Amino acid sequence: MLSIRGLVKVYPGPVAALQGIDLDVPTGMFGLLGPNGAGKSTFMRILAGLLEPTSGTITLDGKNVLADPTLVRRTLGYLPQDFGFYPHLSGEQMLQHLLVLKGVTAPQGLGKLTAELLERVNLTFAAKRAVKSYSGGMRQRLGIAQAIAGNPRLVIVDEPTAGLDPEERLRFYHLLTELAEDRTVLLSTHIVDDVAVLCPQFAVIRGGRLVARTTPRSARAALQGRIFEGLVSSADLPELRATRAVTQTLLVEGRQRVRLYEPDGAAPAGFEPVAPSLEDAYLVLMRLGELPGAEAIDATAERSAPATAEVRP
Ligand code: ADP
Repeated sequence: MLSIRGLVKVYPGPVAALQGIDLDVPTGMFGLLGPNGAGKSTFMRILAGLLEPTSGTITLDGKNVLADPTLVRRTLGYLPQDFGFYPHLSGEQMLQHLLVLKGVTAPQGLGKLTAELLERVNLTFAAKRAVKSYSGGMRQRLGIAQAIAGNPRLVIVDEPTAGLDPEERLRFYHLLTELAEDRTVLLSTHIVDDVAVLCPQFAVIRGGRLVARTTPRSARAALQGRIFEGLVSSADLPELRATRAVTQTLLVEGRQRVRLYEPDGAAPAGFEPVAPSLEDAYLVLMRLGELPGAEAIDATAERSAPATAEVRP
């Protein structure tokens, strides 16, 4: 169990990027969802030992992470948002180089370990190719290969799917799901679908504060009977936006298909009730700062169930 208490980070400025985060993260996949600027990277970089918090504590299986950087290095893998590559090296050379920098020990030789890691992330076919010829998804998989070297208990991945095409994203989802079978994988993202597909539990961060810690199912259930859909003309949209909590608009054949949240469950004229999506829940949360009725999850209770690999394209 990863436990975070009272985590605060104030950058010079001052910018209060994290304003007191309390979070318990069990084994399995856990999502940290939030818009740009919410504090996700700051949080992930502190966990990875790259940035000092202003105050707060972090323990992993009861051990103080902040006080023992070597423990962090041994038990943690990190895939940062902006992963640096040496484009002229081959994937194999690049990975070996990263393993040396990380101080990974390989009793049977670094070459063997490199080959095993490339196999694990499905890159054996491209081991000798220059990294500059890799697609975005292949680069992310190489990043995961270095993150899982040494078989860490905790893997932290910061916005890993941004910029991947749908097929690469799907492949990456499968890889993360496999990794989360026997360790904690903490995934930060601004993409609601990443959470819907991968995470049995997630937290939402906004303006440096956690505004929810729940499950996709509970977040959707909290909105049951309160999400409605209807078609309106584009001319009517501004007024609707001004008076109702619109969660989504989609231009369809020249008209706007609008989804909106009605807290009292009364449908506006011409609107029908629909099944709430996680996107609806996220947008309501962003708007209200809370999700009325969502069940908060007590992480200390149980291990998070593995994702059901309900992976859709
Ligand atoms: P996210 O990853 O969710 O987009 P960040 O953690 O990058 O959010 O940023 C959180 C807040 O902290 C933002 O307001 C950002 O501008 C600010 N911030 C991030 N890094 C620094 C820094 N080095 N110095 C000052 N402010 C920063």
